Amino acid sequence: MMIRTHVLGFPRIGANRELKFALERHWRGEIDEAALQAVAAELRTRHWRLQVGAGLDHVTVGDFALYDQVADLIQLFGCEPARFGFTGEESPLRRYFAMARGVAVHAHGPGCGCGAAADGGKADGTREGAPALEMTKWFDTNYHYLVPEFDSATAFSLHADRLLAEVDEAIALPASPKAALLGPVSFLFLGKSKEEGFDRLALLDRLLPVYEQLLVKLAARGVTWVQLDEPVLGLDLPPAWQDALRRAYARLGQVDQQVLLASYFSPLAGNLALACELPVAGLHVDAVRAADELLDVARTLPLGRELSVGIVDGRNVWRADLDAALATLREVRELRGGRLWLAASCSLLHVPMSLRDDPVVEADVRPWLAGAVEKLEELRVLKRALWGDEAAVADALVEARQARAARAASPRVRRLDIARRVAALPADADRRASAFPRRQAAQRERLRLPAFPTTTIGSFPQTPAIRAARAAFKRGELDAETYRAAMRDEIEQAVRRQEVLGLDVLVHGEAERNDMVEYFGEQLDGFAFTANGWVQSYGSRCVKPPVLFGDVARPAPMTVEWTRFAQGLTDRPMKGMLTGPITILQWSFVRDDQPRADTALQIALAIRDEVADLEAAGIAIIQIDEPAIREGLPLRQAERADYLAWATRAFRVAASSVGDATQIHTHMCYSEFNDILPEIAAMDADVITIETSRSDMELLRGFGGEGGGFHYPNEIGPGVYDIHSPRVPGSDEMLRLLRKAATVIPARQLWVNPDCGLKTRAWPETEAALRHMVAAAQVLRAEL
Ligand code: GLN
Ligand code: ZN
Repeated sequence: MMIRTHVLGFPRIGANRELKFALERHWRGEIDEAALQAVAAELRTRHWRLQVGAGLDHVTVGDFALYDQVADLIQLFGCEPARFGFTGEESPLRRYFAMARGVAVHAHGPGCGCGAAADGGKADGTREGAPALEMTKWFDTNYHYLVPEFDSATAFSLHADRLLAEVDEAIALPASPKAALLGPVSFLFLGKSKEEGFDRLALLDRLLPVYEQLLVKLAARGVTWVQLDEPVLGLDLPPAWQDALRRAYARLGQVDQQVLLASYFSPLAGNLALACELPVAGLHVDAVRAADELLDVARTLPLGRELSVGIVDGRNVWRADLDAALATLREVRELRGGRLWLAASCSLLHVPMSLRDDPVVEADVRPWLAGAVEKLEELRVLKRALWGDEAAVADALVEARQARAARAASPRVRRLDIARRVAALPADADRRASAFPRRQAAQRERLRLPAFPTTTIGSFPQTPAIRAARAAFKRGELDAETYRAAMRDEIEQAVRRQEVLGLDVLVHGEAERNDMVEYFGEQLDGFAFTANGWVQSYGSRCVKPPVLFGDVARPAPMTVEWTRFAQGLTDRPMKGMLTGPITILQWSFVRDDQPRADTALQIALAIRDEVADLEAAGIAIIQIDEPAIREGLPLRQAERADYLAWATRAFRVAASSVGDATQIHTHMCYSEFNDILPEIAAMDADVITIETSRSDMELLRGFGGEGGGFHYPNEIGPGVYDIHSPRVPGSDEMLRLLRKAATVIPARQLWVNPDCGLKTRAWPETEAALRHMVAAAQVLRAEL
């Protein structure tokens, strides 16, 4: 009988975000490369010690990256894009940060698509003005990877020194290293063809020999297992890519190195038989997201192969149900002749380092949570219990059971008043009283806006003064009334500036908000916050998602006072500004004890109350932001319709209590929406503002019916300038974009606005850009 434990990957940012701070100091030129590498080595050692301490049979090597594990692979396989113009003189680290952050001068202009902060990024020794590699969300997580670029000239060569050095570090610990990296098919799949008509799959035969060499080298170095992640197994894979998996592993399977193939985030579904037949030494499956197919896999995978069961949730912060896990594992072990590997479902990169002692989480909620360190402990307990050593872990099992029971019984988790409200919700609660044309007429009558109305997306620059005031308030150095007065001051200034600029629909500027989800979560019941629940988003950037643990309710109005104050300063319409239910859901750790759809509906009801209060306060336009609606889309096609149905309904529930003359806006950014246009239209917002400028309005084509013939029926504000860059586009440039938009969308449906909120910008460029934007709208109006 053999039970082994391991993890697919571990958070690397450090319990106190040591890596973040070291990176940022290095980029500012305050510490050199050696000092940065010393911090990295220290973190790796510390994290391996934690793994050893929890009794894992292998520590994972290769999951550490200074910026991103995919960028590491680009260097490992020697396929840095030629466009960076590297001469070979630069240090690997210089080249690495040049790819990750771009080369200054460029300052993230239009089309760069990198989404990264334009905070300096001087990577000397490279060609001027090379934009960073594009960043894209890693499957359905909030982690962003750097996208490899491929063309017919792409060549691969092995540069394994760094990885092998890390292997040596682990062996010296001492520990038994398992190397982990992305497999060849996923690596190609997640990259991008940079040449018209070029199929990156054609590179597979060039890439495989390099993987072979690597496997051989790792074996020679004393690595007995190599984990190759092929998360594409969780996608609806085209046959050519399924075939690529067959070809790749037929070849890699011949190398004298044990390969553990890893799938996660999504069921194998149609790829199950394929995954089980690939000739590798072991298979890891996600037993949380794909719990239903676990037994099927256990029966299908040949008995000579190892099965690694991802039984502890690597995507969420809840403490595992160890009893249920043990029952499942025993069943699987039975089928597998006693042999089993245990792991978290996916890399622990996606959960905070530790939550056990977090000083901010309330004492009743804290025992319900598990960060990466606690998840290691869960694996330890599961292993001992499966060994038949239950006595040794009896206390731990009892404690876990009690924590779960307390969570289930907590009156903060299940509330009768909310259950009643949901049950009593009328079937048409998600319908506006009238259809759009009638509402449009009523709103035009009430608002009397010019054609091509100008507006912004919500936030204005979060100046150092605003941030300092908030920090002082949080530290208790500034009393609430002084803080509020300071924020009212900021709002007043923002209103005055907008009036001078001549904008038609104003915003209060969101000075009082730290973060668009946290701000609401802090005022709603059912959310907990952490001091140290940081999760890497990209590079040195981390997010600290709220923990949505219980039934959601709004004890009191959240934005009404601020919005009323702002409206009182001006005769022009002031938009009320809210975050939508799906974005709140998507950017939080969400409870796992009820369907996400139910949680979304509860949030929607809380937002609905806020919308009603804003309307009652005389606010004529209310914007409900849903930038994250697209990213919640399930990885598998078969699950999408269901998601889109409940997600759009939640939005409508939030938005639909208002009268015809109250205008509902929504805002979206970060992705292409053309594949879900009918559903976006079904949200039935009166106006939608979207990010389009970086795609040169190409994104808008779908809205105009190109291709599929679907016409977006309501009003649209396609972003006319990129807010990620301090660059100030000229009026003519925005005019050109607007004219382009007007070829697709009827002029009377068009709004004029930037791509997104302006909180990361400074005032001078903001005012200059908005001045040009208003001028562009005026030119168009004169032409009508
Ligand atoms: N209203 C928000 C803002 O302007 C929207 C942010 C977003 O879409 N990410 O900041
Ligand atoms: Zn946005």
